[in-house]
Amino acid sequence: KYRRELQLRKKCHNELVRLKGNIRVFGRVRPITKEDGEGPEAANAVTFDADDDAVLHLLHKGKQVSFELDKVFPPQASQEEVFQEVQALVTSCIDGYNVCIFAYGQTGAGKTYTMEGTAANPGINQRALQLLFSEVRGKAADWDYTITVSAAEIYNEALRDLLGKEPQEKLEIKLCPDGSGQLYVPGLTEFRVQSVEDINKVFDFGHIKRVTECTNLNEHSSRSHALLIVTVRGLDRSTGLRTTGKLNLVDLAGSERVGRSGAEGSRLREAQHINKSLSALGDVIYALRSRQGHVPFRNSKLTYLLQDSLSGDSKTLMMVQVSPAEKNTSETLCSLKFAERVRSVELGPVSRKAELSSWTSQEHLEGDSPGSTAPPG
Ligand code: ADP
Ligand code: MG
Repeated sequence: KYRRELQLRKKCHNELVRLKGNIRVFGRVRPITKEDGEGPEAANAVTFDADDDAVLHLLHKGKQVSFELDKVFPPQASQEEVFQEVQALVTSCIDGYNVCIFAYGQTGAGKTYTMEGTAANPGINQRALQLLFSEVRGKAADWDYTITVSAAEIYNEALRDLLGKEPQEKLEIKLCPDGSGQLYVPGLTEFRVQSVEDINKVFDFGHIKRVTECTNLNEHSSRSHALLIVTVRGLDRSTGLRTTGKLNLVDLAGSERVGRSGAEGSRLREAQHINKSLSALGDVIYALRSRQGHVPFRNSKLTYLLQDSLSGDSKTLMMVQVSPAEKNTSETLCSLKFAERVRSVELGPVSRKAELSSWTSQEHLEGDSPGSTAPPG
C-alpha cells in the first residue's frame, strides 16, 4: 500500500518539478541586536509589505530597493514558523528524495541561528532530525528505517570529517565503484542515530572538535562551510523495496567581500576560496533552475560533494540571511542580489503562490495525486 502511495507521490512530484522547478529561495531577516550598537549605524533599513510575504525593501544610500523571493521571514518569525515552511522538504527524504538546505549571508546575519539555533530555540538541524524520528516511528509497522548523520566542513577547498578520529585528514570525493554514477566520500564517519539524545551527543562531539582545533571558533566557522549530512535508508519488509534519501544541512561561510587592499596572506587565500565556492554554488543553482544542459558541479568541492543532492529530482532551499542594520546594507544588497540571481529564471505562466504552496505543503502534493483519492490497496 505504502509502496503504491510512494510511487504515486513520486510521479506527482516529478510532474510538479517538471512544471515548476525544485529550487526555492527564502529570505530571513534577523532582529537588530545589541551588537549592532545604538547610533544611526544600527538603524533599521529593511521593511516589508503587509499583503505580500515574498517581498522586502532595503533602504540603501537613501534609495529604496525592492526584492521578490519565494518567501520572506521578518525578524519576529520564530524558529517554529520557519521550520513549518521547510518540514515537507525534510520529510520527503523518507520517500527517497535528496534535499539541500543552505543558509547564505554575511557573518552575523543569522545563518547559524537558523540552522543550529540555541538550546532554548533550536533551529532547522535539530527540528529536522526530531521530525524524521517521529515520522519513521509512524511507519514502523511496515518499514525498517536507519537514520545516520555525518558532519563535515570545507575550509580552503579541503574537506574534513568533523566526527572522525583523525580530524586533520583531508577527505576525497570519489565515484562509487559500482558504476551507478553516485559520489561518496571514503572514510567519512557516519553515526547511526535513534533519538534526540544521540544527536546531541554527536553534535557536542563535533563542536568540541571544532572548538579545540581552532584558536577562534567564530572566525573559523565564518570562513568554512559546515555540513550536516543526514541519510535515511528504508526497507519495506513485505516487498523488499529499498529507499535512500539524503538531507544536507549547510551553514555556508560568510559571504562578505574582503577588500583587496585590506587582506593579505592566509586571509586573502581564505577569501578567494570562499568567493570561488559561493559563486560556484550560485552558478550551479542558476544552471539547474534555468535547465541548462551543462551544470558546472566540478568548480568547487561543495558543489561536487552535493552533486547528487542538487541534480535530478532533488530539492533545494536557499535561505538568504539578512541583517537589517544600516551599517550592513552594502552586504545585504549583495546577498539579496545573489538571491534574485538564483531564482530569476522565468518559470512560465504558473503563479508564484500556487507554485510555492504546492511545494511546501505535503497535503497539496497528495491531494494532487490522482491515486490518493482512490481506495488504497
Ligand atoms: P552567522 O552564523 O550568520 O554569522 P549568527 O547566527 O551567529 O550569524 O547570528 C548573529 C547573532 O544574531 C547571534 O547572536 C544570534 O543569536 C542572533 N540572531 C540571528 N538571527 C536571529 C533571530 N532570528 N532571532 C534572534 N536572534 C538572532
Ligand atoms: Mg555562523
